[in-house]
Amino acid sequence: MNGLAEAVSSFALTRWVSRKSRAEFEHWQAAALRRFLDRDLPRAPFYGKAPARLADLPVTDKALLMRRFEDFNIHRLTAAEAWAALARDGRAGSLTVGASTGTSGNRGLFVISEAEKYRWLGAILAKAAPDLLWRGMRVAVILPQSTGLYDSARKSRLIKLAFFDLTLGPEHWREALEAFDPTVIIAPPKMLRYFATDGFRLTPKRIFSAAETLDPVDRPVIEGFFRLPLDQIYMATEGLFAVTCRQGGLHLAEDSVFFEFEPAGEGLVTPLVTAFRRQTQIMARYRMNDLLRLSDQPCRCGSPLRCVD
Ligand SMILES: [Zn+2]
Repeated sequence: MNGLAEAVSSFALTRWVSRKSRAEFEHWQAAALRRFLDRDLPRAPFYGKAPARLADLPVTDKALLMRRFEDFNIHRLTAAEAWAALARDGRAGSLTVGASTGTSGNRGLFVISEAEKYRWLGAILAKAAPDLLWRGMRVAVILPQSTGLYDSARKSRLIKLAFFDLTLGPEHWREALEAFDPTVIIAPPKMLRYFATDGFRLTPKRIFSAAETLDPVDRPVIEGFFRLPLDQIYMATEGLFAVTCRQGGLHLAEDSVFFEFEPAGEGLVTPLVTAFRRQTQIMARYRMNDLLRLSDQPCRCGSPLRCVD
């Protein structure tokens, strides 16, 4: 499948899953997780074989994943090769390498295939803006990745995608962005704020902050300028973990990630995540640094995916 077809198929799957009951959803998820454990996970040298149960696998974390980087991806790409690729154009053969933002000693590396890259974008669009699809959607993605991560604009009848390289600076693509006239913008909050304070001629229907933590002082500036509520995409090094829905609920991405929760006191939990739709860099029972508070109310949007407060 080409990238856009992958995005569209991911979009369709994500929408299909979102209409299930919780019981139906858990049934589907258990089968998908089992397939991942049997078929994908053993391909990473760290694992080598399928476990009887997920709980039989060791808990992993960022330090372990970085220390033994080559054992967690199926191509045995080493961390040194990945950093070198990142310094060049972000490409290692057919793979794309990226790194999380953060202090230098603490950046996390990730490696994904072309298919996976578009899969998450399709999933984001399906969760975030399903209502826009049928009217035609122009999506501008502005992310802090090296130039190799996304290439030129892609389009189909319903979705046009354009990628703008944050590392080049907005002066390099402001005109192109305004001419593209996106209906959906996905960008780090500081960039959205820059669009607002610099008066970019943009009239999106939905805006998403991604890739960085939203500073509360930026929210009113961004929302005031675009006259829209700002939605959030919660991504970590390893992928997409939660997206806000039309009703403002922040839903866990349980349709691609299986969550286990360790109690952390005061009603908070630390998630262990297993990304069961990823096939290049395997992540299983990965302990995140974040603390979450699970919502006990189902969301008004009717999605079976759990919400966090
Ligand atoms: Zn919802």
